[in-house]
Amino acid sequence: MASSLCFLPFLLFVLSSIASSSSSTDALHGSGEAEALGQDLYRDLLRDEAVSRLIELGKISDVDGYLERTFLSPASLRASKIIREWMADAGLRTWIDHMGNVHGRVDGLNASAPALLMGSHMDTVVDGGKFDGALGIVSAISAMKVLKVTEKLVKLRHPVEVIAFCDEEGVRFQSTFLGSAALAGILPATALNISDKSGKTLHEVLKEYSADATEDSFVQLTYNPELVRGYVEVHIEQGPVLESAGIPLGVVKGIAGQTRLKVTVSGSQGHAGTVPMSMRRDPMAAAAELIVLLEGLCKQPQKFLSYDDDCSTVDSLFGSLVCTVGEISLWPSASNVTFTIDLRAMDDLGREAVLYELSARMYTICDKRSVSCVIERKHDANAVKCDSELSSQLQLAALSAFRKVAGNVDVDVPILMSGAGHDAMAMAHLTKMGMLFVRCRGGVSHSPAEHVLDDDVWAAGLAALAFWRIKCRTIGYVPLFQRAYQMYSVLVSCIYRNGSLFISVGKPL
Ligand SMILES: [Zn+2]
Repeated sequence: MASSLCFLPFLLFVLSSIASSSSSTDALHGSGEAEALGQDLYRDLLRDEAVSRLIELGKISDVDGYLERTFLSPASLRASKIIREWMADAGLRTWIDHMGNVHGRVDGLNASAPALLMGSHMDTVVDGGKFDGALGIVSAISAMKVLKVTEKLVKLRHPVEVIAFCDEEGVRFQSTFLGSAALAGILPATALNISDKSGKTLHEVLKEYSADATEDSFVQLTYNPELVRGYVEVHIEQGPVLESAGIPLGVVKGIAGQTRLKVTVSGSQGHAGTVPMSMRRDPMAAAAELIVLLEGLCKQPQKFLSYDDDCSTVDSLFGSLVCTVGEISLWPSASNVTFTIDLRAMDDLGREAVLYELSARMYTICDKRSVSCVIERKHDANAVKCDSELSSQLQLAALSAFRKVAGNVDVDVPILMSGAGHDAMAMAHLTKMGMLFVRCRGGVSHSPAEHVLDDDVWAAGLAALAFWRIKCRTIGYVPLFQRAYQMYSVLVSCIYRNGSLFISVGKPL
């Protein structure tokens, strides 16, 4: 009896090892099936097909000559149709909701379990690029297709849903995140009254799109947070950090908080030749000094902000504080100058400290120059942090993808801040979220020059696939054997000493 008990762990171990050879759950080191494919790991789906789909989607535009696809425009509806077909091709059950978001879902083995969501946006800016938003949608669908062709899709432990959001850029209604904010439950019903340039309200546009669109159906779009386990988005970086690091993927630690200011400087329109320098009240010169102040403060906040040693606010501003002047105008002639300031940082308290110091110093400069200043706060959004568990899993997935494409090299996956807003920002109100950035050429986005290398599209798809495998391991015989072996080895252990066999029940010896 004793010896047969002692053989059981060994037997289970052997069975587990044999069965492991057909497992596809090892995201980092690749399955037997994956290793057989070597460097061509799903290249046909994750790279070649994904790139051709990005090109195809990039041609679906409301205008000839450049890419423009805004909320529920004719081109947007054509894009929805094709994205839905790709989702169905990946084995997903598909539908389009009343806002125009396209969904593809697989229930896996437990349809009632909370779902993991992944997606990005299908709308573009005017004269935009074909990767912004589209890459996140296409790479998620491609990864699901790999799970389908490897017959793992139906074995997922919990539901997975890919979403193509209808509006992130906010071009048509000047209101960003219409699609994701509706699902996250942060789009108020009053949003139905906002209107586009033609005067049509959102409600009217939704009615034209779907006769069933009512205020109730709008509210019912909100997901139940208890039925969602997280949201993950793959997106182009829209900055140059990954390119300068020479690495295709990076993990986002958070999306910066943002404040937009409008500054009006009023002086007097003195004669260019008759008013002496000591008596001039030139608003343009004052505005120039204010802008230089802004730049200096944001470059070196520690020189301007006072803090004690225990305060980490200023330290945390380094590397994330970004300020710039957007528009500047003079009206009428040169007596008034207005300009806008965009200020972003990961640390909300730090951003407030910068705004306080900036305002105080600006007013001092204006007093000294005998001009009047009005600083208006036009927009505020708090920073959103990415979930640490999702970020760690994305980091592992990114490393796995990088190694599969570039070889078994040692690299640190960069951790980045996102200075730009994304659907993930809205979805963070619903559930925990994580983001993966993909290198784009020159950090250029919102432009036809926007470009992602084919191999980086591949890396993004591999990372999405590795992430699904880490997050939604399929259930099969292998995990069951492994689990049984682990449980058994805790309960019963044996050791051979001086020709005798000892059995211990409890902890392993
Ligand atoms: Zn985007």
